Amino acid sequence: MTRRGGHWGGGPEPDLRRRPGSGGRTLRRIIGFFRPYRGRLGIIAVAILVSVSIGVVNPILIKFVLDNLLPGGPRDLGLLYLQVSLMVVLPVITSLIGVGQSYLSNVVGQRVMDDLRLALYTHLQWMPLRFFTETRTGEIQSRIGNDVNGVQSVVTDTAASLLSNFATVATTVIAMVIIDWRLTLLSLGMLPLFAYITYRVGKVRRQVSTLTQQSLAEVSAITEESLSVSGILLSKTFGQQQASVERFRKESRRLGDLQIRQQMIGRWFFALIGTFFSISPALVYLLAGVLIIGGDTNVSIGSIVAFTTLQSRLFFPMGQMLNVQVEIQGALALFDRIFEYLELPQEITDAPDAIDLDPARLRGEVSFDDVSFHYPVAAAQLAVAGEAAEAEATGRAVPTTVRPFALADLSFEALPGQLVALVGPSGAGKTTSTYLIPRLYDVDAGSVEIDGIDVRRVRLESLGRVIGIVTQETYLFHNTVLENLRYARPDATMQQIEEASRAAAIHERILELPDGYDTVVGERGYKLSGGEKQRVAIARVLLKDPRILILDEATSALDTVSERLIQQALARLMEGRTTIAIAHRLSTILRADLILVFERGRIVERGTHAELLRHEGLYARLYQEQFAAGREAVGA
Ligand code: ATP
Repeated sequence: MTRRGGHWGGGPEPDLRRRPGSGGRTLRRIIGFFRPYRGRLGIIAVAILVSVSIGVVNPILIKFVLDNLLPGGPRDLGLLYLQVSLMVVLPVITSLIGVGQSYLSNVVGQRVMDDLRLALYTHLQWMPLRFFTETRTGEIQSRIGNDVNGVQSVVTDTAASLLSNFATVATTVIAMVIIDWRLTLLSLGMLPLFAYITYRVGKVRRQVSTLTQQSLAEVSAITEESLSVSGILLSKTFGQQQASVERFRKESRRLGDLQIRQQMIGRWFFALIGTFFSISPALVYLLAGVLIIGGDTNVSIGSIVAFTTLQSRLFFPMGQMLNVQVEIQGALALFDRIFEYLELPQEITDAPDAIDLDPARLRGEVSFDDVSFHYPVAAAQLAVAGEAAEAEATGRAVPTTVRPFALADLSFEALPGQLVALVGPSGAGKTTSTYLIPRLYDVDAGSVEIDGIDVRRVRLESLGRVIGIVTQETYLFHNTVLENLRYARPDATMQQIEEASRAAAIHERILELPDGYDTVVGERGYKLSGGEKQRVAIARVLLKDPRILILDEATSALDTVSERLIQQALARLMEGRTTIAIAHRLSTILRADLILVFERGRIVERGTHAELLRHEGLYARLYQEQFAAGREAVGA
């Protein structure tokens, strides 16, 4: 894996120091993606070779026609008919083959692109949460969109034309040598030099291409961040539109400049090649003329015409081949970016001997045994760097010791059906601890167990099935209410869905929507209120019917009606399940079988509400501050 600048996904810092030998590896991986299509690739190759070989026959026919007709030739009419018929038929055959071949190469190209996109998407689906917290959405979108699309043209057009051009050049050069090796040497003498310069130009192109794709990703990321609903809301409410425009303008201009650079790299060089090819027929006439005047009988007028015709056949494919090399280097840079993501380790994966939990027989006991956990160094360093910067800005002493957040010595048990409430100051580690149960992160030491089985020994899919999570922020897909609910259980009947919605106190409200259960909600759909969305989320988890529930109660205050509906819904949701709740409601902590008080990543107090109040510690203080005042408001 390549990690740049301490975080995933490259970011704006370009890394142009390519690892030695990585080009070969990239190539091997690319070939791997083409392997499934080798049958069709074989047909394409044969088609190209056949049409190219046919193509070289025509200029040679010119020689025979002229040698037949010119003074001194046999002047045979039958031979002329044959020669001219061939000159008509062969190009027709070549064109037909060309159409078939371009269809096939498009199919293969698109299939490979499809495979690449799918491989990326699938790989990312199994990446740990950590990756997504550290990588910008726009950056990810850019790799799946821009980068894969970027290689598309190279794969569909360039790869096929490379072979075709190579074969054209090879057959043409062979024909030229057969006609006259001295003239061939004259017209091709400069080639090695051209090839070398092309190679150099290609390398620079690859570097600039990497920068261009990074800049493209940056533009995507800025757009994604600033033109999303939350982004634009922030920008409007802080009056930051102009600053956003400025940021976008800078990056957009950088992208434009890079693209100009990319287009212009080696332009002078290709102009030079073009000029050389335009001039070289004159040189051929000169040399051939000198030879003929000098009495060389091997050089005929037919040979000279055929030779210059062949030579003109070279110009286009040669120019393209040199250009293709440059384009391929650009495409390799894109492949590198794609493979960089594909190589990221998934970290949290199924153990080889992972087992399935049987939801029917699961008791639902959750236990933490001496658990410790810290966020990865990169993220922690960022936090510490932020702290240092803040300290410096406020004139406080800059912290010298790195003391990032960590969970330590967490031990507790939630017996089947119990409600365990986690409370504590903000940032104490409540959310983080709940993340360890469904393995959104893995513990550093100790273990998290369900019914005595370490979660790391359970298949992730099975783990996902027995744990339900209701988060503070409800995410609904841009789809109908029905499909959003079905997400939890694709085979749920309408009756089951309505039952769950009733239990979550949202059924009536759904019926009032313009199209009832078929109303499109979510990102750009019908806007449900925060409380309504939460109830849909609760109905969704009810449908899933997990044995274990993780509940991150919303902190946002709701009006009393809404609050009452949510409480009803939650009460039904918790029934018969083991619940670990990050509690912000008095009703929840009062009902809890066990309250765990978190402070700086540790459990500092534990007990029931009454016990903890008697203890007069942190809990009692928090209770006074947070809950007692709002006692009536939350209806307890
Ligand atoms: P709150 O009640 O405010 O939600 P919490 O008790 O749930 O707080 P956590 O969200 O678990 O606290 O956060 C604990 C600490 O971990 C915080 O100091 C936070 O900065 C840090 N933290 C959270 N997520 C990450 C992350 N992805 N990478 C690095 N550090 C993180």
